[in-house]
Amino acid sequence: MAMNWQALLSEAKGLIDAERGRWQALSKDIWEHPELAYEERYACKRQVDELRSLGFDPETPTAGVETAFRADVGSSNPAFAIASEYDALEGIGHGCGHNLICTAALAAFHAAVKLQDKYGLKGRLALLGTPAEESGGGKVVMLEHGCLDGIDAAMMVHPSWRTTPDTGSTAVRRFDVTFHGKAAHAAGSPELGLNALDAMLLLFTAINAWRQQLPEFTRVHGVILEGGVRPNIIPDRSRARFYLRSAQEDWAEKMEARFWDIIRGAELMTGCTAEVQPYHRPYMSRKPNAIMNSAYVESMKALGANPVLPPRPGRGSSDFGNFSQVVPGIHPYFAVGDHEIPGHSLEMAEASASDYALDSALRAAAAMAVIAVRYLGDDDFRNQINEDFRK
Ligand SMILES: [Zn+2]
Ligand SMILES: [Zn+2]
Repeated sequence: MAMNWQALLSEAKGLIDAERGRWQALSKDIWEHPELAYEERYACKRQVDELRSLGFDPETPTAGVETAFRADVGSSNPAFAIASEYDALEGIGHGCGHNLICTAALAAFHAAVKLQDKYGLKGRLALLGTPAEESGGGKVVMLEHGCLDGIDAAMMVHPSWRTTPDTGSTAVRRFDVTFHGKAAHAAGSPELGLNALDAMLLLFTAINAWRQQLPEFTRVHGVILEGGVRPNIIPDRSRARFYLRSAQEDWAEKMEARFWDIIRGAELMTGCTAEVQPYHRPYMSRKPNAIMNSAYVESMKALGANPVLPPRPGRGSSDFGNFSQVVPGIHPYFAVGDHEIPGHSLEMAEASASDYALDSALRAAAAMAVIAVRYLGDDDFRNQINEDFRK
């Protein structure tokens, strides 16, 4: 059945606006209780309680994660999932605005279920509460536990300083590198030492040289966490953390191989030994669905937002990347203000509590609800989305 998306959009927006007080309270409450990855007990319970008060029957914990939840309505296929995120950042609270992500997710799910019911659409709507996006990879763990089994498409919306379609993200692999050397008196008997700090500096120097030969869609960055104790002791231990990012999965693979070679080189040059530990699970790159992206942009325009196409693809990383490699999906953005605000900042945290941001999140929620409903009820729309994913 072909569906009139403009009419659906104004219905969805009406349903969401009728509960504006509820969504405002939810966003504010979660904003006031920032919790780090895998510690989101308050935010998880708050959303589960909200869903119960709306008549849903959520499951928590789920998919092997204590602070995850899910609610499913309907059975059979097609099945569309909406993802909620709610973890915060150390020191800056909701500096990534995830209080708005979970608010938009619940608002969209609630409206979509009402519309599914009203139009008698078959299929299933799922709301997935996915913790630990900033670190820890909640979605990666949940995927390993089958959270997308039977799901055909997925979507979430994220705050930003502007409204944009999903322009992709980079795969990220994170490593802790520790060099072990041998301590010695730096002046009295330096010849007895093996300098772990030198090994680390050589590693950084080699990476800086390597960067020139890397494609534009990659990023490498590291910080030194330990570099020795005092100048008169040859450091016997140094430690750093690195992120390797690539918008293309094959390059993520190549980069990791070269990274290990460079570490080996630093070992050989200094006589130190390296210990390499993966830090958190790797995130895959996002594969934005073009059909869902244009439906989102058209809806946001129709609701009075001003979507723009950023001049270059996204270079950050998100565990929604792993979802988008398995099913068609998008992770587009909505504006929290009318000027440029850096992500992961106190300014972003402040903006994420504003009325402007809430209005914008509720527009994005309506756009998401309509994409979900059309995915269930509009065969042409669904086929185009699936076709775009396959190619
Ligand atoms: Zn973030
Ligand atoms: Zn975020």
